[in-house]
Amino acid sequence: MAVPKKINIAIDGYSACGKSTLAQALARHLKYKYIDSGAMYRAVTLYAIRHKITGDLPASLLPHLDHIQIDCVWSESGNKIYLNGEDVTAAIRMPEIQDLVSPVSTIPQVRRFLSRQQKQMAIHKGVVMDGRDIGTVVLPDAELKIFMTADLEIRTERRFKELLLKGLNLDKEVIKQNLLERDHIDSTRSDSPLKKAPEARVLDNSFLNEKQQFELALSWVEETLAGKPNFEN
Ligand code: C5P
Repeated sequence: MAVPKKINIAIDGYSACGKSTLAQALARHLKYKYIDSGAMYRAVTLYAIRHKITGDLPASLLPHLDHIQIDCVWSESGNKIYLNGEDVTAAIRMPEIQDLVSPVSTIPQVRRFLSRQQKQMAIHKGVVMDGRDIGTVVLPDAELKIFMTADLEIRTERRFKELLLKGLNLDKEVIKQNLLERDHIDSTRSDSPLKKAPEARVLDNSFLNEKQQFELALSWVEETLAGKPNFEN
């Protein structure tokens, strides 16, 4: 039997529109590796907070980059992220990271530091990677690119519920403002801003449930594997 060809799948989009849920579902189904590039930016941010070097960015952080080792370990049960050997999977989801991660992500040296590693992780194909610049900068050759979006109110509600499950009862307005601010910083920064690659397929999941969005994306994977070119929506 012919071995199926492996592709790379790049998923970009706004904050809290379900990129990682879709990416993980695809990775599990296809037996691919999932890379959460946002978790890597969060880990650098956690390092900066812990070392109290957030006051004078970027100068304060740059000498530290050589001392930051990030490892992503993907298994079917989920994604784990290690910062200098410590499992920080839960720590990087805390609200204080949320407030600083986008400013840290604007620093070109941080982007180069992480995107080099991300490119390397995908070199053998069979990777689903999500983030903001995956289809445009990190994996411009990805065979399938998906750009995700969803209504802001719906994203706020989803993030609110997600945080509640972790025992964090945050004000919805605060969550909404954080999403708006991150989207703004991510889309307007000069180095690798969040934007749709021309050939990316747009997936607006405002009114799709997880199963529906998975089925739609899987149909795109199947078309790509069958050799159909991707079209701009
Ligand atoms: O995906 P997630 O929300 O965890 O990403 C956290 C932040 O990391 C984003 O708001 C963005 O500022 C940054 N990021 C980025 N480029 C990526 C992934 C994430 O700038 N490829």
